[in-house]
Amino acid sequence: MPILLYGATSAAPFHGISSVFLLIYMSKLLSIVIPTYNEKENIPLAYRGVISAFNNLPNYSRELLFVDDGSNDGTDEVLKELGKNNREVKFLRLSRNFGKEIAVSAGLHHAEGDAVVVMDADLQHPPELIPLFVNKWKNGAEVVVGVRSKNNNEGLVKKLGSIVFYKIMNRISETPIIPCATDFRLLDRKVVDVFCKLTERKRMTRGLIDWLGFKRDYVYFEAPARINGEANYSFKKLWRLAFASFVSHSLFPLRLAGYLGVFITVISAMTGLFVAIEKYVLGDPWGLSFSGTAILALMILFLVGIILSCFGLVALYIANIHNEVLNRPLYIISEKN
Ligand code: UDP
Ligand code: MG
Repeated sequence: MPILLYGATSAAPFHGISSVFLLIYMSKLLSIVIPTYNEKENIPLAYRGVISAFNNLPNYSRELLFVDDGSNDGTDEVLKELGKNNREVKFLRLSRNFGKEIAVSAGLHHAEGDAVVVMDADLQHPPELIPLFVNKWKNGAEVVVGVRSKNNNEGLVKKLGSIVFYKIMNRISETPIIPCATDFRLLDRKVVDVFCKLTERKRMTRGLIDWLGFKRDYVYFEAPARINGEANYSFKKLWRLAFASFVSHSLFPLRLAGYLGVFITVISAMTGLFVAIEKYVLGDPWGLSFSGTAILALMILFLVGIILSCFGLVALYIANIHNEVLNRPLYIISEKN
């Protein structure tokens, strides 16, 4: 927004110019948050990519916030050097590898822009698309989500895994999650402020942002292959992330015990009723002659069902308490410029 600043040199009204008008164009600040884990070679490329994207955004000032997620390849040195030579480059170094989800959260907590763009350092989120995101934001979207139209560079197992993940997730999750929606996103300041208030520790940033809601728009893109290095998301990490997402966005795993209990209770109660009526009320007309052991087994099954149902119920409360009690810091920053 243009702001007119009026400065008066009131102390010297007779000395030439008595007042100065300064027209300062206050441009909007865009923060680019980039989580990095062992991305030494990619950082200069990502930096140049973002800077050249800003050629198409002449009215915006910028802040590049790199979050070094405990890299051990000298990423921090590269970032320090970059920060020395460029004032718009800021970086946080986490004390160890906390994982991308936490690294992105740390970036969002420290970004100061009117809008924040989150992108990967490996150029799989093409920086030249940033102006498209900003345009959608200018047109009123508060969350602009990058949706990968196709990723030809992923192995079959990863592709299949992602299909299965989204199928299960959308079936059991309380918030729908769009398949192929990436972490390449622009968030309005409003959204970032609310995001910063979220306190859960096990987090899938994407899922949390989806849960927040707000006006959204989409940018479709094709993800190119990674420039340097290897994907840091090993299967173990992906599996953990998928599991954390199931647990944090759905109570289904817990409810399962409860449902199982209810199922067993109902089945054994019905069978028990049938046995009681057949044997004692009707006097065994079909000659089934249920033994005492069979009846005992049914009673035990019935009780097990009840216990399991109660367990499911108690587990729900435990889940709530568990979420409230774990009050560890989300991350520890060891360095900051
Ligand atoms: N990353 C991170 N911490 C990690 C793993 C990855 O900050 O523990 C960063 C990584 O440097 C990159 C982004 O997250 O900028 C995406 O990682 P990657 O390319 O390994 O994942 P994929 O492309 O498979 O989603
Ligand atoms: Mg990648």
